[in-house]
Amino acid sequence: MKPAPLEYLAAATAEEALAALARFDGNARLLAGGQSLVPLLSMRLLRPTAVIDINGIRGLDRIAAGDGVVRIGALARYSALQASAVIRERVPLLAKAVPFVGDRQIRNRGTLGGALCHADPAGEMALCAVTLVARLRIVGRAGRRELDAEAFFQGPYTTALEPTEMLEAVEFPDGAGAEAVVVEHARRHGDFAVVSVAATGLPAPDGSWRWIRIGLGAVADRARYARRASEGLAGTRLQPADVEAAAARCLEDAEPAADVRASAEYRRHLLPILVERALGELARRRR
Ligand SMILES: Cc1cc2nc3c(=O)[nH]c(=O)nc-3n(C[C@H](O)[C@H](O)[C@H](O)COP(=O)(O)OP(=O)(O)OC[C@H]3O[C@@H](n4cnc5c(N)ncnc54)[C@H](O)[C@@H]3O)c2cc1C
Repeated sequence: MKPAPLEYLAAATAEEALAALARFDGNARLLAGGQSLVPLLSMRLLRPTAVIDINGIRGLDRIAAGDGVVRIGALARYSALQASAVIRERVPLLAKAVPFVGDRQIRNRGTLGGALCHADPAGEMALCAVTLVARLRIVGRAGRRELDAEAFFQGPYTTALEPTEMLEAVEFPDGAGAEAVVVEHARRHGDFAVVSVAATGLPAPDGSWRWIRIGLGAVADRARYARRASEGLAGTRLQPADVEAAAARCLEDAEPAADVRASAEYRRHLLPILVERALGELARRRR
């Protein structure tokens, strides 16, 4: 199918994009990589009056480290994240997650901002954002505001973004020195996850872990930070009993649904297995 008739505008600056969003009074969509928006338009699941192309906004794809954070412009493409030494060294979880997204074509066009605004509960970028407590920097005509990832995601394909606002950048804490693991079960490599688990932590010199954070994907209506399981692991050495207890806590926090990829029961079966696998891999790294 083809999209319903719509107007196409190209914005050269953030101000132009915001003015255009305001002009269409919430009935326009920003176009980033188009990897989710274009299929939705083509299937006529979305029928905006206009799309506003933000690909020409200079600097919106910038990646920079400083003041304890790594700031990634909303238009940074997956492939740029993959190629970035800053991301590999300072946000290793993101670097580990990107190869699970789609295929090379998707990664060459799709953007971090687009993925977060699309808010797929199985999306790897949302998983990283909630696990690492990313701060999302939002701009609207009234000014700028910031939200934690957990407050940004409000449900499947639903965010706290107003229709006339734009996601400008995402700030991840500078995690230099942290270890990170992403494990995922998908029907085929590159498919959306049936279940995904992110685990990251900072090892201490005495063999314990200063902190560990676990994120869960595709087992609730949005990506989840597994708070109780994570907090319970701080200061441990990730012994088998610690790992088993964390996996059980993650399962208690999960509310999986059935969809075309898997039943809720199968997701519940997989989740503790993947949590144990992710934490086991972290523990092996330490050894
Ligand atoms: C075959 C296929 C396989 C895929 N596999 C995966 C996968 O395994 N894992 C995964 O996570 N994703 C997957 N995706 C989705 C992909 O990651 C998309 O790139 C991503 O969801 C959207 O990014 P985009 O830049 O293409 O955004 P677009 O498609 O351009 O936009 C998506 C939505 O975000 C809005 N938006 C975009 N940028 C902004 C902004 N800066 N501010 C406000 N709103 C904005 C748009 O208006 C639109 O509503 C797959 C897609 C396809 C087609």
